Amino acid sequence: MASLASLARGSFGQVDWLITSRQAGDYANTSLKNGFDLNRRNLQNQIGRRLVFPVACHGDSIAQVDESSAENIEKVDGLITQFPNIALAALSADCATVLIYAQDTQTICALHAGWRGMKDRILPKALNQMQQAGENNFKVVVGPAICAECYGVDEARYLEVKQKQPQAAVITDKGFAIDIQKGLISQLQDFKINPEVVSICTFESQECFSFRRDGDAHRMASVIWFNS
Ligand SMILES: [Zn+2]
Repeated sequence: MASLASLARGSFGQVDWLITSRQAGDYANTSLKNGFDLNRRNLQNQIGRRLVFPVACHGDSIAQVDESSAENIEKVDGLITQFPNIALAALSADCATVLIYAQDTQTICALHAGWRGMKDRILPKALNQMQQAGENNFKVVVGPAICAECYGVDEARYLEVKQKQPQAAVITDKGFAIDIQKGLISQLQDFKINPEVVSICTFESQECFSFRRDGDAHRMASVIWFNS
């Protein structure tokens, strides 16, 4: 099989991650489109692990995934597992994703975090949960997202974000804006974590799906899995 088109990929030793590009197809799970199942099967075959997807709802719920979990887990924006034969996905098109390898406890985590999930602190919540389980050694990738220049918002949303995560509320030449990645990076710094950041703007890059640009329901997949 031809290698799947990826926007970015990497490894943390025993754990690999990748983020699919627009060329690798659509992984949306909120609307069934042509090719949707095939894309998922291709991705699963390439990874060689059972893939589990969240049906994200811009909340802060995180599900523990095990071998009996469904392929689609409803109403969660985060997945965590220690089962080595399961790959975790997060879907996005302008929202950021965060992929986490917790090395001491051999745990992986995939999060979907748009402006709302970032503001509602799903990332610190996941990190706290793993820390309470004994983790102190995190490897983290922050996936691509719409950049602040392309993500102008109204004053109300700007102020809402400013109150909860001030680093993410920015003013560009065009006015009030949100920098999702900056907010997430700031939250990681609170845990003394220096992440890898995929610095690609989904709105500007034709390699990416962008909800704001295209206005449709296509999604890219960010995936993390144990490679051995
Ligand atoms: Zn941009």
